[in-house]
Amino acid sequence: MSEATPILTPPGNSSPTQLEATMTAALFPRPAGADTQQLSLLGDPRPVRTPAKLWRVWLSDPATRQRFEAKRYRRGSDQCWPWIGAISSTGHGSFRAASLSGLSRRGTVPAHLYAYQLEHGIIDRLGWSALTDPILCHRCDFAGCTNPRHLRLGTAGDNRSEYLARRHSHSSPLADTRGTAGLSRAVADAIRTALSAQEPASVIEGRIQDAFIAGQPWALW
Ligand SMILES: [Zn+2]
Repeated sequence: MSEATPILTPPGNSSPTQLEATMTAALFPRPAGADTQQLSLLGDPRPVRTPAKLWRVWLSDPATRQRFEAKRYRRGSDQCWPWIGAISSTGHGSFRAASLSGLSRRGTVPAHLYAYQLEHGIIDRLGWSALTDPILCHRCDFAGCTNPRHLRLGTAGDNRSEYLARRHSHSSPLADTRGTAGLSRAVADAIRTALSAQEPASVIEGRIQDAFIAGQPWALW
């Protein structure tokens, strides 16, 4: 969950019934062949539409999955799994699933979206404009996280209210003085540097903690 997670509609209210319907539609997508598409934003105001058939290829291709796993740093099952590849201006990981020609950036997708769909399957109508259409939120508020356990489907309204409620908490990644992109890049840099120096996981763990703490508001006092 973060301010920068794709939001294509103004915040609105959504009754539990609507949300339930959204979840059901998302978890049990229409049959293959239906005109399923997703919109995603990568710090770019122009939404990019990605057909489900492309997602199916990217999620099932072993070489693509291998490239994806090489860019996410897995830790304990309840911990954040930081993306160590490219970071978008919104602080989300960017994964180049494929190089597609043309003006669209369809081949580059948010890393957390790839991670979620790898675990749960393709989400129908993600990021579309209706208030009941799903968006993907970070439970942990760390935009660079790709642990599927830290991701959930919600609506733009949910995401907005959670952001407003949590951004003033000093320990929240949303309060980071470097901004969401600054935080994600600092964590990714720390891990990449440690990996290239072949440091043990326990040392890398300390470097990750330091990278998070460095941007907390009270760290400057
Ligand atoms: Zn996380």
